[in-house]
Amino acid sequence: MPRTVAGLEIKSPDELRVMRRAGLVVARALAEMAAAAVPGTTTAELDVVAREVLDREGATSNFLNYDVGFGIPPYPAVVCLSVNDEIVHGIPGPRVLVSGDLLSIDFGAIVDGFHGDAALTVAVGDVSPEGLTLSDVTRLSLAAGLARVRPEVTVGDISSAVQSYIRAAPSRYGIVAEYTGHGIGTSMHMHPDVPNLGRPGRGPKLPVGAAVAVEPMVTLGSPGTDVLDDDWTVVTRDGKVACHWEHTVAVTPGGCWVLTAEDGGESILKAAGGRFAPLGD
Ligand code: MG
Repeated sequence: MPRTVAGLEIKSPDELRVMRRAGLVVARALAEMAAAAVPGTTTAELDVVAREVLDREGATSNFLNYDVGFGIPPYPAVVCLSVNDEIVHGIPGPRVLVSGDLLSIDFGAIVDGFHGDAALTVAVGDVSPEGLTLSDVTRLSLAAGLARVRPEVTVGDISSAVQSYIRAAPSRYGIVAEYTGHGIGTSMHMHPDVPNLGRPGRGPKLPVGAAVAVEPMVTLGSPGTDVLDDDWTVVTRDGKVACHWEHTVAVTPGGCWVLTAEDGGESILKAAGGRFAPLGD
């Protein structure tokens, strides 16, 4: 079991290597769902694709039966599929994807007790230019946050990099504040919260062996949210489109390792000026 220092779970190199295996399961499932997300597919069919990947890889789901308490029913699927004005936590079902939909796919897996968690947004068929730009801005704001990760980075350094990237875009976007990234390791959601708004130097410092999920949620309108009557699906209050991108990243001695990217984050980090430093075998 990892040790905990000041509330932060610190993973050994071998424990991070196990987390990497979970991260690769997440990367593969996301890629397979993204490929299957074409007009005419139902979101329930994508949940089946994800379950098949978990079975094939010998992994289990950290989303299925996730219980937040408060009398809310446990989460009923292995993936969250959020379409257009849905920001996060959309439940798979009979909804048929149509050309023009922006679909956010959020997925997690457990391997040998360690968790991975990541999300991406895919364009279904032909999506409007402003929708595609929103997804690009969200994806690149995640890259900007990941590029900050190195030993002793503060959570505020990551948050402010995400925020600054979005604020520097030519259009004004909403940055969702009610939902945040999080520490991750032997549980999916751990200390600390990793907001998408913040100031450099603030918040906990992340030493070597810490791991967090960074997950900007960005909207075409205002950032206000509502939750639907299913108690899970989070939507924009103004009905405007939202995008969601996420990776699980670990702090390593030379920088960081993006555990849920197939290439360990090499391409993302090199493009964004980060320090790509995976652990060897
Ligand atoms: Mg997450």
